[in-house]
Amino acid sequence: MTDFFDENHPLFGAELDTLAIRAGQTRTQEGEHGEPIFTTSSYVFESAQQAANRFSGEEPGNVYSRYTNPTVRTFEQRIAALEGAEEGVATASGMAAILSTCMALLKSGDHVICSRSVFGTTTMLFTKYMERFGVQVDLVNLTDLSQWTAAVKPNTKLFFLETPSNPLCDVADLEKMSQLAKESGSLLVVDNCFCTPALQQPLALGADIVVHSATKYLDGQGRCLGGAVVGRSEHIQEVLAFIRTCGPTMSPFNAWVFLKGLETLRIRMQAHSQNALALANWLNQHKNVERVYYSGLESHPGHELALKQQRAFGGVLSFKVNGGRKEAWQVIDSTRIMSLTANLGDVKTTIVHPATTTHGRLDEDSKREAGISENLIRVAVGLEAIEDLQKDLSRGLDLI
Ligand SMILES: *Cc1c(COP(=O)(O)O)cnc(C)c1O
Repeated sequence: MTDFFDENHPLFGAELDTLAIRAGQTRTQEGEHGEPIFTTSSYVFESAQQAANRFSGEEPGNVYSRYTNPTVRTFEQRIAALEGAEEGVATASGMAAILSTCMALLKSGDHVICSRSVFGTTTMLFTKYMERFGVQVDLVNLTDLSQWTAAVKPNTKLFFLETPSNPLCDVADLEKMSQLAKESGSLLVVDNCFCTPALQQPLALGADIVVHSATKYLDGQGRCLGGAVVGRSEHIQEVLAFIRTCGPTMSPFNAWVFLKGLETLRIRMQAHSQNALALANWLNQHKNVERVYYSGLESHPGHELALKQQRAFGGVLSFKVNGGRKEAWQVIDSTRIMSLTANLGDVKTTIVHPATTTHGRLDEDSKREAGISENLIRVAVGLEAIEDLQKDLSRGLDLI
């Protein structure tokens, strides 16, 4: 268990900014100021007795880097501290975090209710792979509580959602969702990738487990793949046991990159949110923009809720241009600064056409239901100067 809950710990009660910079670091006898990278697969023992004690678990300590690695451990403690969790475990990617959570907490015959508006690969994991192993999955509308209620079965074990949603920024009421999960004997798992703990702490609102793709904002600069699962010790121990046995472990180098990313997490998230709000307001008054989807706009249906449960509105927004695919592609292809890529959570602004990329596998009905129209563009707003981002979008928008 992380020890920030102990009142004797120097970081007991510390603020998010302090935890992001200090949590989890232990110094070796070299007295290094920065966190070292332990690039070692295994560890040597001082005696046969010590080896036996380490293997039996009688003595704490490192054995092998699939089980524990000091750099990875520092990252685990830091992300757990930021989410206000008892315990955390790192994984090789965001998908590995979601898979490991499922494998540790579900068994054949269990039932899962999952938001329809989650990361596409997450939907695939549930519907293609979990179902193959006898886990039933129902997909429901993120913000329609009655659909969640109606989907509950005696064998429901897990609720899974992301808020705000991608790409339309729908906001789920985490307090209500956790109450419903509790009443139905289920665990609420929240993918907190879009907000990060700098903007939203689902555990404080009643969620049981938070999963992350560290690949996005936790790194923040598009360098590495990684993930994390945080929550109560009883659950994280199970996830850890799965990871140790099955191997989707985070590399120490990646853990070190994420530690550096976390140090600037709050100021980056604040700056992303500020830039996104400015761009949303600018797009909102553009004559060739039909509609902007960003929970920071008062006109967005999730605005009040986002104000209540988030510290800011995040960096991702989407908008519909006047016209269809041709006009949307023209705006995208006319940009000269933004990166045309499906990734997000980077200081570099990214732009993508969801209907033909991230959501391209959905059939027409599902696209309509999810609001993924041909004239929709998603922008994950980075930290470049807002004037330059506006100019970049104007190149195509002004041609419509
Ligand atoms: C990218 C992403 C994932 C998957 O993470 P990887 O690190 O790419 O495996 C999961 N959830 C959300 C919301 C994401 O954006």
